[in-house]
Amino acid sequence: MPSQDLVPLDAPAAADPHQRLIQALRERDVILDNAGVGIVFVKQRVIMRCNQRYADIFGYADAAELLGGSSVDLYPDVQAFKRLGAEAYPVMATGQRYKTEQRMKRVSGGLFWASLTGCLIDPADPAAGSIWIVDDIDEQKRAEAELHSITAEQQLILDHSMVGIVFLRGRRVTRCNRAFETLFGYGPGELDGSSSRQWYLSDADWELAGQRCYEPFAAGRAFEGEMLLRRKDGSPLHCEVRSKAIDAQDLSLGSIWITMDITARKNAELALVAAKQELEQLVQQRTRQLSETVQALEQKVREQREAEAHIQQLAHFDALTGLPNRLLLDQRSQQALDIARRQGEPLALLFLDLDHFKNVNDSLGHRVGDELLKLLAQRLTAALREQDTVARLGGDEFVLLLPGTDAQGAARVAAKAMELATKPFQIERMELTVTPSIGIALHPGDGADFETLCRCADIAMYRAKQGGRNGFRFFTGEMQAQSLRALQLENALRRALERDQLWLCYQPQICMSSGRVIGAEALLRWSHPELGPVSPAEFIPVAEASGLILAIGEWVLRSAVRQLRQWLDGGMPALTLAVNLSSVQFRHADLPSLVSRLLAEAGLSPGLLELELTEGVAMVDPLGAIAVMNDLHERGVRMAIDDFGTGYSSLNYLKKFRANKLKIDQSFVRDIGSDPDDKAIVRAIISMARSLEMRTIAEGVETRDQLDFLRAQGCDEVQGYLFSRPLPAEDFRAFVTAYRPDVATGRTACR
Ligand code: C2E
Ligand code: MG
Ligand code: MG
Repeated sequence: MPSQDLVPLDAPAAADPHQRLIQALRERDVILDNAGVGIVFVKQRVIMRCNQRYADIFGYADAAELLGGSSVDLYPDVQAFKRLGAEAYPVMATGQRYKTEQRMKRVSGGLFWASLTGCLIDPADPAAGSIWIVDDIDEQKRAEAELHSITAEQQLILDHSMVGIVFLRGRRVTRCNRAFETLFGYGPGELDGSSSRQWYLSDADWELAGQRCYEPFAAGRAFEGEMLLRRKDGSPLHCEVRSKAIDAQDLSLGSIWITMDITARKNAELALVAAKQELEQLVQQRTRQLSETVQALEQKVREQREAEAHIQQLAHFDALTGLPNRLLLDQRSQQALDIARRQGEPLALLFLDLDHFKNVNDSLGHRVGDELLKLLAQRLTAALREQDTVARLGGDEFVLLLPGTDAQGAARVAAKAMELATKPFQIERMELTVTPSIGIALHPGDGADFETLCRCADIAMYRAKQGGRNGFRFFTGEMQAQSLRALQLENALRRALERDQLWLCYQPQICMSSGRVIGAEALLRWSHPELGPVSPAEFIPVAEASGLILAIGEWVLRSAVRQLRQWLDGGMPALTLAVNLSSVQFRHADLPSLVSRLLAEAGLSPGLLELELTEGVAMVDPLGAIAVMNDLHERGVRMAIDDFGTGYSSLNYLKKFRANKLKIDQSFVRDIGSDPDDKAIVRAIISMARSLEMRTIAEGVETRDQLDFLRAQGCDEVQGYLFSRPLPAEDFRAFVTAYRPDVATGRTACR
């Protein structure tokens, strides 16, 4: 191709062949000048023609600047030029195009990548020159290099990543790194093209994973989560997964998944959870044990407290009625007295004792007795003020502590208590009534301390009983004196036996029909050096209350039978010796055997001894009395009921008493002459005794009229001053010896 053909021509279009050629050449020039690539015609290394693009590529302002220049200058160096020539020309010489990419040099000296495509104009004649199409591919080369480096980096990352990375498209593996394969137990390349289904446990899991990813993928966000997957060998694999669509706009381009084995962590977590659960269980168990222990402890403490409370209750309260007992009463009294002293206020202490309560117990049973006490306790408590105390000392003894109460108030309370106690009690379909005796002591008049007040109230109560029961008494100075006297007597009586101050005297008992002395009653005497003679009526109750009566009674019995022995030995005709028995002796279990022993000691026949028991004592415990009397009867000892007529004997029991004799109380005998009632009573007693086949003896017979009346009524025996006062043993013997019965006239010889 001639070089001028490439130079722009401005020849007009012609119809002749030359013109047409020119036209064609012009058209070609336009094409060349406007081609996007550089085109050059080189002949003998000289640039013959080139288009503007070519000049632009090499940095020349005008293509003309290049014309005539050596093409060698456009190469980085001569070697490069030659090397190209050596490679290109053999190829081009075969008529083929030679194509290469080569570094070229711009006019500025800067090198750049260019793509070169050359061909010879005439392969047969290389000297005819060659045409080269040149394009600046420097930019493209740089991009390629960059891409290459990025790709290399990527590969590096992929190859050396510790996490498994997989690229999926259509849920199939397009690429994955070694770590991914290793993680799931596959060999290199084994996963390529395969479905992701294989590392899911089930179809459902696989489906679910797809659904979970879709939304974040479409929104351009990453999906993050933990998944339980499986290795090739089926073993489970806990993975932490992060995945993202390569292009959120076009999900068909697939996604990248980064997976990390968290099995160890998961196992550790599971172990941790298990350990935590175990720990929690342990803690729960411990907590349970602890709470059980605490509960048990609390229960113990509760029981302890209850026990203590119970002990307190037992220690301070009466078990039957729940009322404060003596101990608590004592404490409360001390407090109340302290307050009363400080504030100068009065205080009243009431002793309440039921009359004949023993009868209730004995005849109706202890259950009824207990019930009655409980009901009475309730009534009393309900009737009193809050600051008052009702205490039970035991038995049927109650104490009322009334702070701030004077004599008037105390009397009101006593009257109220009387009323409450006497109101009928309904127990087991029975209606019971009892009467109380109440003694009242006042602070500060009667005493400053609890003990003194108690003693005073007790004395007053005792006097209320003596005064006919069913009433209340205030403590008085006279009572005080009497109680002092009792105390004095008791102290003196303790020494009376050992100091030989006791002695017996004997009062004859006369048979009405024969007029003879058929018996004697032994009566105790006490002469104290300072107190003088003390009446048994006074000291016997003291001896009974102090328990001294047992020793004294035994002494009396022994002395009496010994005396009788002496008399009999001395030739006195046989007579019955009557000895008085105290209720305390009578209730003593040892009595019958003691009596037998003493009789045996004295060598006396039991029939010579007659034991006198007062009617009251016999009736307090009739059944017990019957048993003892039976026993004594068996032993051959005789029994007489003393003071008969004062004890309200039940005829029922009387029948069963193994008594030989009823001793008509002297109070009836005394007034026989004047009191028609007494006459009637005496008459009744005698006829009753007769019907019971008992003998009668009247005591306290002082006058002939009394004697006559008694004789007229058929009384069997008499005893009294009319015949003789009680006499010392020696005098009695003399009396018996001197005594001459005058049966015909009924006269008696008295000393
Ligand atoms: P008692 O057993 O009823 O004794 C009869 C009491 O009447 C005696 O009083 C006696 O001295 C008195 N007496 C006898 N004849 C007459 C009379 O004609 N007129 C008057 N006014 N009195 C007469 P005493 O000796 O003072 O005894 C009083 C009570 O003491 C006795 O009553 C008896 O219950 C008790 N007693 C006396 N000695 C003993 C004893 O050794 N043991 C026991 N337990 N009690 C005794
Ligand atoms: Mg007597
Ligand atoms: Mg008597």
